[in-house]
Amino acid sequence: MNEGDVRAFSSAPFLPVYRRYPLRIVRGEGAYVWDDRGRRYLDFTSGVAVLNLGHVPPSVRRALEEQLGRVWHVSNLFWNEPGERLAERLVALTFPGGVFFANSGAEAVEAALKLARRYAYFARGLREGEGEFVAFTRSFHGRTIGALSVTGRPVFHEGYTPLWSSVRFLPYNSLDALEEIVPERTYAVIVELVQGEGGVYPADPEWVRALLARVRPHGVPVIVDEVQTGVGRTGPLWAYEAYGFTPDILTSAKGLGSGFPVAAMVAREPFAEAFVPGSHGSTFGGGPLAATAALATLEVVADPAFLADSQRRADLFRRGLEEIAHEDGRFLVRGRGWLLGLDFGHPVGEVVDRLREEESVLVLTAGESVVRVLPPLIAGEAEIDTFLAALRRVLRRLGS
Ligand SMILES: *Cc1c(COP(=O)(O)O)cnc(C)c1O
Repeated sequence: MNEGDVRAFSSAPFLPVYRRYPLRIVRGEGAYVWDDRGRRYLDFTSGVAVLNLGHVPPSVRRALEEQLGRVWHVSNLFWNEPGERLAERLVALTFPGGVFFANSGAEAVEAALKLARRYAYFARGLREGEGEFVAFTRSFHGRTIGALSVTGRPVFHEGYTPLWSSVRFLPYNSLDALEEIVPERTYAVIVELVQGEGGVYPADPEWVRALLARVRPHGVPVIVDEVQTGVGRTGPLWAYEAYGFTPDILTSAKGLGSGFPVAAMVAREPFAEAFVPGSHGSTFGGGPLAATAALATLEVVADPAFLADSQRRADLFRRGLEEIAHEDGRFLVRGRGWLLGLDFGHPVGEVVDRLREEESVLVLTAGESVVRVLPPLIAGEAEIDTFLAALRRVLRRLGS
């Protein structure tokens, strides 16, 4: 397609599962994208928390270009160096344990759930029908049948029930509701430390401590789904670092490969032992290209100096947003680091559309009433200022 060739925006021949914005992106660089008419936009969506280093980060591009000339795929029946190095790196950056590679967040979650079920079956004698997962309302863990089973958004379950496993959904951040957990029959708890898709709700540290105290003494694994919160998105490399504990099982995907599909599950002992040859698998998982993209991404993001500077800029951005929220009085700011939600308490479609059409600034929503702002971690003070000024103008034009 030539630049300037503007086709109509119709969903056909796609199945209409997405409502896309009327914008066709042809190029990206850093915090910016260009549409097919040559117009530039400030991209504070990061491809839904994927492009933590922005578009086409140079060092990741170089690493991929080198790997492209070497080998693309070997299957998991052979060893490959980038895959081995990535597994070692992930364990070094999380906790002692074993790594399973997949290609998407849902698959990493799926692997975590299967591991927990096998562990419950073999180590704890819990058969299907005797146990349950504990998950939380408003949660999002993916679209495959297993991941969907623990997703606490009834609208996504419509037409697919009964789902895979029995699940007890408890209200997020409710201390009282933790009493309802029956640890002896719980396969695992799965939790996001900031609920991303569900509206940008951070977990209350006191609640997280109580949750761990309720299940851990009984040998129930805690799965922390860091598909959205991981790889520096909330400030530290992993969101759990700010809560002062380490998970039993961790899932990572979105930001891990700078846009190249790659996902990982890391599991500690004794849970990791439940997988033996043949228990699970993935044709593409941990292939040389995906592993190269992830290694090059972590090379930048896991550097403590990078994370400290990213956190400083995220704090600056947060303060700017809080200031506008305070002056404007119509929305609240929630979230951690670069995973932020502006909750207006009513539909925000017009704010998102005006930012795009009038200010060339891209943001997302989370649910109906929250503007979700996901800048790349490399956003500088100039991009932050551009965004804040654009938001101010849009809010002023919207009137009160
Ligand atoms: C996006 C997301 C998933 C699903 O990831 P996919 O790559 O779309 O399968 C799972 N968990 C969380 C917390 C997510 O934000």
